[in-house]
Amino acid sequence: MGRYHVLINNLPLSIISDVYYSKGNRYSIGKYKFNSKDDRYLNFVVNGTKCAKCGLEGKYAKLECSNRGCHLNVYGINDEGKEVMLTKDHIYPKSKGGLDNIINYQVLCEKCNNDKSDNSPMTLVQALNEGKATSRSVRNAVKRGCPKALVGV
Ligand SMILES: [Zn+2]
Repeated sequence: MGRYHVLINNLPLSIISDVYYSKGNRYSIGKYKFNSKDDRYLNFVVNGTKCAKCGLEGKYAKLECSNRGCHLNVYGINDEGKEVMLTKDHIYPKSKGGLDNIINYQVLCEKCNNDKSDNSPMTLVQALNEGKATSRSVRNAVKRGCPKALVGV
């Protein structure tokens, strides 16, 4: 990938909840300090470290840095033995009014996340017309303030 500079490899996954539930907003591993109250960790703590779509399981974490700072990333190994990152996905896309909140997060591997954005999701109203959504899900979306929410197809 080349996007991240790896600082520490092969950290056990238990470090994710240790970091998230640690006191204060900064966590240090050795000389490296980073933000511990990141929603990516909350997502892993609540939803686990397995891809919600293909079931790929996270095996270890790495402390990595990009030009936006340092954080932990979770990785699994796919059937071809390649390393795949597990990501925080917005179920209803943020760009379409989906909430930036744990109720709208799921864990997806990078591949499923990319596949998802290649699909053309339909609006709830379209899904309702095609019998793929219920009028209740539309009413709920309106209540949440995202009447134009998109659903995956
Ligand atoms: Zn996946």
